[in-house]
Amino acid sequence: MTRLIFLGPPGAGKGTQAKNLAEFLHIPHISTGDILRQAIKDQTPLGLKAQVYMDKGELVPDQLVEDLVKERLNQADAQNGWILDGFPRKVTQAAFLEELLTTIGQGGEKVVNLDAPDETVISRLLGRGRKDDSEDVIRRRLEVYREETAPLIDYYGARHKLLTVKGNQSPEEVTTELQNLIAA
Ligand code: AMP
Repeated sequence: MTRLIFLGPPGAGKGTQAKNLAEFLHIPHISTGDILRQAIKDQTPLGLKAQVYMDKGELVPDQLVEDLVKERLNQADAQNGWILDGFPRKVTQAAFLEELLTTIGQGGEKVVNLDAPDETVISRLLGRGRKDDSEDVIRRRLEVYREETAPLIDYYGARHKLLTVKGNQSPEEVTTELQNLIAA
């Protein structure tokens, strides 16, 4: 049973790696960013609330993402493992997740920290062409990452849940390293 949380700055290749590994392990890839972008496309109440924050590179309010993660982890396909990508994004969300997993009897989660230098992530994000990938918004998202999300590295390190993957290697090498880590 594999339960993994992917951490890392935007543009580190987190989404791609999380998706590949989830396919390899036949477990759902749960990306809060993807779910929110779909909600915006569908113009749902959640999407309408989230859009203002996402367009600026800010985090959407905890309650919105916490509700959607709770609902998602309770679904049938999430009972045999999952990869969470983009959640938690801050310590309050990590504390929420810890409590949620205890409540629903899902534990043993590990955290993969996929880091990459600023120059790499900025050039990748600029080349990606997503709506929240303009230069100002990218800068803000990196700032938010450093302020709110990076502290989770210590948070999970202190809980002995952290697995570290070298960021300065090719995407193929990262994939191999991840598969080996999981098999170990
Ligand atoms: P991502 O696709 O993970 O880069 O997420 C894109 C955007 O969705 C972020 O910049 C946030 O605005 C929002 N978002 C995704 N996950 C979260 C989260 N866990 N907490 C707050 N906002 C989030």
